[in-house]
Amino acid sequence: MTKTRHLTILGSTGSIGESTLDVVARHPGRYQVVALTADRNVEKMFEQCIQFHPPYAVMLDAQSAEQLEDRLHAAGLDTRVLSGIESLEKVASLPEIDTVMAAIVGAAGIRPTLAAARTGKHILLANKETLVMAGRVFMDTLRQHHATLLPIDSEHNAIFQSLPQHFNGDLAGSGVRRILLTASGGPFRTVDLKILETVTPEQACAHPNWVMGRKISVDSATMMNKGLEVIEAHWLFNAEPEKIQVVIHPQSVIHSMVEYIDGSVLAQLGNPDMRTPIAHALSYPERMESGVQSLDMFKVARLDFESPDFKRFPCLRLAYEALAAGGNMPAVLNAANEVAVEVFLAGRIPFTAIPVMIEDVMKSTERRDVPDLEGVLLADLQARATAREWLACNIRQSTGQPGKPASSLSAGQ
Ligand code: NAD
Ligand code: MG
Repeated sequence: MTKTRHLTILGSTGSIGESTLDVVARHPGRYQVVALTADRNVEKMFEQCIQFHPPYAVMLDAQSAEQLEDRLHAAGLDTRVLSGIESLEKVASLPEIDTVMAAIVGAAGIRPTLAAARTGKHILLANKETLVMAGRVFMDTLRQHHATLLPIDSEHNAIFQSLPQHFNGDLAGSGVRRILLTASGGPFRTVDLKILETVTPEQACAHPNWVMGRKISVDSATMMNKGLEVIEAHWLFNAEPEKIQVVIHPQSVIHSMVEYIDGSVLAQLGNPDMRTPIAHALSYPERMESGVQSLDMFKVARLDFESPDFKRFPCLRLAYEALAAGGNMPAVLNAANEVAVEVFLAGRIPFTAIPVMIEDVMKSTERRDVPDLEGVLLADLQARATAREWLACNIRQSTGQPGKPASSLSAGQ
């Protein structure tokens, strides 16, 4: 009988959070949910508390926490409801938990994820932004405090599964020639480049293969997601950028591959359903049911591959440049991207302005080393301020209508 794992799920109301709870619910007794956290979705958090009875629930937003507390109290539940970033850090480092699913979206995930690392937890990492912003700081913290990490991102989970079992961070010593990081190419892989100027948030979020949160969906459409994943792979597997080859594979059936020096290429395949990497990481080194259907090879029928086009996907180029520059630049790239995606989703800039804005912010920021979390958070804050200044200068008049480009911005500006 396997020992019961005690879990905190950061970002439980999101796409990864819900998939995690779906897998957990299939294995009664194997996991105990100790804490759930969310930003402000009271309705979903209330339902999750009713189903999983966690001792703690945290809402980032204080008003949402009050509403949740009232509803749980009325329903007769004694869940302790907390609010604020310190409470997120607290539930990520409770002595009674051993495992943390880090599934908050964006830079907001960094402080609680680092708190889990500092207290030696077993971290299941979906929040790739933590590694992008603070790769060195995070990896050093994990080592110092004997915390462990398993990747949830489907590509990195696939790479992990395709590497030797006790991979020690030495790719060359393990006979690895390169990592082949697959990418679907998103919804705009083949559309006319001219059309990109006028695509709407809804079109950008309509991913052909995966159902995900809105931020990562836009990142997939710009391929910034793959850029962030190159940086993530660099830190997770100690891989130099030239050892990471992005391969567009529109079917999203091969989740990534590892090529060895003898010419062998090992891959992990499956339906595009995040419950597979989640179940893998939750039960590692064992295997358990995830609810994912068998892969129907006859239905898949063919597997296609293309090389990525930096002209269509400038965000991918920018991510390679940020990785090569190092220091504060990946955090700057990430922060500028978060602002750009937010204002694109709000209909304030066209899709094609996303890479323009990120590149301008990167160019106007001096490269600096970031030795600690404070340095990373400062780089994030400053890049956001620069991005907002860029917006103030470049949007002469916002249309206020989602999807309609502001008049002064267009592709290539
Ligand atoms: P989502 O938007 O669906 O959910 C985000 C969660 O974080 C929600 O619970 C939300 O309440 C919480 N949250 C948002 N802002 C917050 C803040 N400021 N402070 C605290 N909590 C906050 O996002 P998602 O698609 O589940 O993605 C989560 C993470 O997993 C991201 O880093 C994403 O890149 C990564 N990821 C997601 C997928 C996927 O299939 N969805 C795949 C690979 C990696
Ligand atoms: Mg991924």
